[in-house]
Amino acid sequence: MTITHHPSDETLLQQAAGMLSAGPALVVAVHLEGCESCRRRLLGFEATGGALLETMPPQPMRHDALARALGRLDQAPSPPRHAARPPTVMRHRRVGLDLPASLQHCEIGRWRWGIPGFRWSRVTIPGYADARVVLLKGKAGLRLPLHGHAGTEYLQVLSGALSDARGRYLPGDLDEVGSDVDHRPAVDADSECVCLVALEGDTLLRGPLGRLLWSVIGF
Ligand SMILES: [Zn+2]
Repeated sequence: MTITHHPSDETLLQQAAGMLSAGPALVVAVHLEGCESCRRRLLGFEATGGALLETMPPQPMRHDALARALGRLDQAPSPPRHAARPPTVMRHRRVGLDLPASLQHCEIGRWRWGIPGFRWSRVTIPGYADARVVLLKGKAGLRLPLHGHAGTEYLQVLSGALSDARGRYLPGDLDEVGSDVDHRPAVDADSECVCLVALEGDTLLRGPLGRLLWSVIGF
């Protein structure tokens, strides 16, 4: 697998510092599974961050620091109860491809139809129900309408391939699509394409495709 599209250094720094929100962090974690180059860069950022922390003078603790820390623990989301899974959850083996290890603890919704030739399923990260993550599946030859992004979209190709005016994206590639990008992705003609996609925060997709995805997915 040759990987040519990687997360930006800014994104890897945020991942190293634990500052990426849950959805994008999951997509980056999937990329890191298959990309030794980014794993090495991440280790470097983590080491640099650790060294920086060690050079900082110790800060005096607030008198209520322990109580505040315990309070945050109380507010932390409780782990999901697997017995209470909704009936719409698809068994992982029915997704139709081998899922990366980072997705094994997530709940994967059933495939649902969007526009013709285009299906999606919701990915729920335990403890982060609001994270906006989906698997998208486009049939061979599908051309999506022109659309833009009001913030950053993180897209990791899991199988198949797609292209736009900026390049071609193969399994293992991660595409960070910023708000400056308007594009018209097309799936290769010879096989369907499955991608893992997360939107940052309240990002919306612009244009008719955005309105359509909002109506069917809530994106
Ligand atoms: Zn990489």
